[in-house]
Amino acid sequence: MKNIAIICSGGDVSGMNPALKHFVEYALEKNLHPYFVYNGYEGLIDNAIKQVSYSDVAGIITRGGTIIGSARSKRFMQKEYRRIAKNNLDSLGIHMLIVLGGDGSFKGLDIFYKEHGVKFCGIPSTIDNDIYGTDYCLGVDTALNIIKTSIDAIRDTASSFKRAFVIETMGRDCGYLALVSHLTSGSELCLIPELACDLVKYEEKFKIQMKNGRNYFIAIVSEGIEKSAQDIADWFEEKVGIESRVSVLGHIQRGGNPTIYDRLMAYKFITHAINALLNSTNKSIVCYDTNGFSLKSIDTVVNKQKELDTNLLKFLH
Ligand code: ATP
Repeated sequence: MKNIAIICSGGDVSGMNPALKHFVEYALEKNLHPYFVYNGYEGLIDNAIKQVSYSDVAGIITRGGTIIGSARSKRFMQKEYRRIAKNNLDSLGIHMLIVLGGDGSFKGLDIFYKEHGVKFCGIPSTIDNDIYGTDYCLGVDTALNIIKTSIDAIRDTASSFKRAFVIETMGRDCGYLALVSHLTSGSELCLIPELACDLVKYEEKFKIQMKNGRNYFIAIVSEGIEKSAQDIADWFEEKVGIESRVSVLGHIQRGGNPTIYDRLMAYKFITHAINALLNSTNKSIVCYDTNGFSLKSIDTVVNKQKELDTNLLKFLH
């Protein structure tokens, strides 16, 4: 039997635990020995690697985060530590790796492959949905649902108190979470890093709406925009003339019970990753788009900048 290991690296997302569960079950079904590497690449270096079975993944499917921990590892950026990581894998007879992470984690594994020939398959996992080559990254749907619940709750208080609420979402330089949340929550304003922050055109429009009876606003702003959420709240007070509050959603977007969609995607991503490794695909990323799942080479995925879907952008007036 061959040995296969899985690692969570970079930011954790909801959906990692369902992925770990299916990893163990599907690996055993394929007559592989599954191993967990704890705490990202740090665990590879520190030999925090354990053979696992069904009991290790019992009851984890409902939990956000990852039971094996995730980390960023400065040491893995250095050749001598990658050598130690390889020795640890060799001592356990592990020659196949699956990594749940972002493009930084994939770049690290690619270097590891080039130096030591350890086959790997990457599963895009980040709530930012900013990985080139895939329309979907694990964790995005759960994050969107948490944002939806938060906006719905904020709307209740905003409407009761006649206020403008500026809600900041995560996403780094990618406005995907903010844009989709805007389109699905009926907010009045959405600001994302991909578009210039042009507030002038909203000023008159919002004032007229207030004269016509509107008594609250919801604005969704992505963390990567050129202005701060507080700047936008100040603009509401000074230019539109309504009391305002800022609500930064923060890390609640990364946690929570994984949605059905993320559980299903976790299942499919893992199935494709293990099949790819068994079919001798050495260094690929499992991607998902309108044509379904495909394997893309690491070079395609990590060397290009993901652009926000132009069809979605068109909806932003
Ligand atoms: P997220 O989207 O959550 O930031 P990520 O996978 O992009 O996820 P990074 O912090 O960029 O997160 O990378 C995770 C880890 O991958 C790093 O801490 C480091 O150990 C490893 N890594 C990244 N780039 C390299 C590299 N060029 N060489 C070796 N290792 C790397």
